[in-house]
Amino acid sequence: MENCIFCKIMAREIPGHVLYEDEHVLVFLDISQTTKGHTLIVPKAHRTDVFEMAPEEMAQVFSIAPKIATALQKTFNCTGMNIVNNNGSSAGQTVFHYHVHLIPRYNRDEFGIRFINNMEDYDSSDLAALKENIVQNLEA
Ligand code: 5GP
Ligand code: ZN
Repeated sequence: MENCIFCKIMAREIPGHVLYEDEHVLVFLDISQTTKGHTLIVPKAHRTDVFEMAPEEMAQVFSIAPKIATALQKTFNCTGMNIVNNNGSSAGQTVFHYHVHLIPRYNRDEFGIRFINNMEDYDSSDLAALKENIVQNLEA
């Protein structure tokens, strides 16, 4: 796709530090290096976000994740790893070609993902109502 930075890396129109490539995915270092070894897994087909991904495309992206994660762990001796995917600008997406971040974690690094706990705002009947609505859309 025109003007897509990841499509351009794929086409070798702009440089990227490619770690792995197959028929379906390209894996390269994220330029920002949020932590040392920060890597992206990107489907070769241009898809904006998870809502455009076919199940088999998703499987292609995630089936390579253990191999890449293990190589990063061996290389950098990281003590953990976040695997993150942002969909939509409200979720922090800035490049609108689907991608999964592999972010190696190190003791005392400064990267933080914090899940807020809103448990007090939802009792069991609230959760049951949410569930009913979601399940209706799953079955639609
Ligand atoms: P998002 O914010 O959409 O989840 O992630 C986009 C990521 O793409 C960011 O972490 C950013 O550093 C990375 N990025 C943006 N432009 C380039 C580029 O030209 N080359 C590489 N390798 N990564 C890029
Ligand atoms: Zn693209």
